[in-house]
Amino acid sequence: MTLEFCGAAQTVTGSQHLLTFNGKRILLDCGMFQGRREEANRINRTFLFDPATIDIVILSHAHIDHSGNLPTLVKNGFTGTIYATPATRDLCSIMLADSAMIQTKDAEYLLHHKGILIEPLYTIDDVSQVMQQFQSIPYHTDFEPIPGVKAKFYDAGHLLGSAITVLEWDEKGSHKRLAFTGDIGRSNRPILKDPDFFGNVDYLICESTYGGRLHEKEVDLRQELLRIIDDVIYKRGKLIIPAFSVGRTQDIIYYLNDLSNHHQLPNIPVFIDSPLAISATHVFRLHPECYNESVRKLLYNDPDPFEFKGLKYTREVVESKRIGRLKKPCVIIAGSGMCESGRVLHHLGHGISKERNTVLFLGYNAPYTLGRKIAQGDKYVNIFGDSHKVRAKVEQLSGLSGHADHDELLMFLSHINASKVDKVFLVHGELDHQEAFKTALEQKGFKSVTIPSKGDIVEL
Ligand SMILES: [Zn+2]
Repeated sequence: MTLEFCGAAQTVTGSQHLLTFNGKRILLDCGMFQGRREEANRINRTFLFDPATIDIVILSHAHIDHSGNLPTLVKNGFTGTIYATPATRDLCSIMLADSAMIQTKDAEYLLHHKGILIEPLYTIDDVSQVMQQFQSIPYHTDFEPIPGVKAKFYDAGHLLGSAITVLEWDEKGSHKRLAFTGDIGRSNRPILKDPDFFGNVDYLICESTYGGRLHEKEVDLRQELLRIIDDVIYKRGKLIIPAFSVGRTQDIIYYLNDLSNHHQLPNIPVFIDSPLAISATHVFRLHPECYNESVRKLLYNDPDPFEFKGLKYTREVVESKRIGRLKKPCVIIAGSGMCESGRVLHHLGHGISKERNTVLFLGYNAPYTLGRKIAQGDKYVNIFGDSHKVRAKVEQLSGLSGHADHDELLMFLSHINASKVDKVFLVHGELDHQEAFKTALEQKGFKSVTIPSKGDIVEL
């Protein structure tokens, strides 16, 4: 077995790792590289291998940095099966379509406003072809992706359907076991289960996004949400929550539903104003097999934890515009999470200069994004070319990250006997975070921890 690192090597996005066994080739993830337009465009259009030579793909989860380049792979000749959990397949159908739509709109914008002609990386037709190549495999079920290699998915607890893949094979008279973690989630999340233990392995391809970093101390999110909602009602304003459509939005709906079930949620309309979030919530409803024990118990009394009195899903643009004109207190949850695009921009344009309103951030904002500018307290921000004075109150709540932090990663990996692991490869992280995590793993007794570069090939 050989392993080649073809993406997310010393970077966070573009996950692609290639295994070759007896001439057959397995691609682990086919993620999109996300960064500056020209660089991303170049990297995403060129693979380190000929897509037509790949026999199968195994997909860890639906996030675009892990799945988003599948349509390019198919467009360039990949005709094999894509193995993923049922929830990952279903999330991919909406997330890849959304990605195709963004690229098509981007290309149109560049042509009409800047006279630059670029072809979208892929279109909705390419996504349709990708969806026909999926084969879904439930968690904890053996399958044989290529002759002589057995595989099994374990719950990674990071996103609905996210999986740690374990592969097993016999070579030169010995039995080998390899785990690819994808992204690792956290324990005690609102909807998802804790990450699954997968036992001892010989080789570990491990993510390291939060190496050397710790999440902020968690607050009681339900009580904090109540405090912020009460304040908005008192001021007769609006609460605008920029949120990631898949994952974080459903967590918030779940918390609000819980408050509603306990008769603690005030009488206030809550709008989910994002077509992608609405579709994603529907996929969440379809996959109770991914819910943790407390959500499963809840289903006996509340068959739909994503529906409560006052909640309105607004898919149509006219409905979204109506929210903008509303004169009474309300909660608006809209994408994108970092305020770079989507309907949240319209709500911020209407609302950010009014003192009675509140903007609530639920997580990380990347540098230079509008979300970062508002969150760090800029006095003026630019929205659709107009300058707006920030008078709305700005709040931030942490605790909803889907990624295990440094200590949580170490705690999770402590179920493995470190002395039995032959090689650990750290992927999916910035180099300084990876180095911090490498040192910590070595202190825990893991030998041969390496941080591969893109294009590195190792013999297993
Ligand atoms: Zn992810």
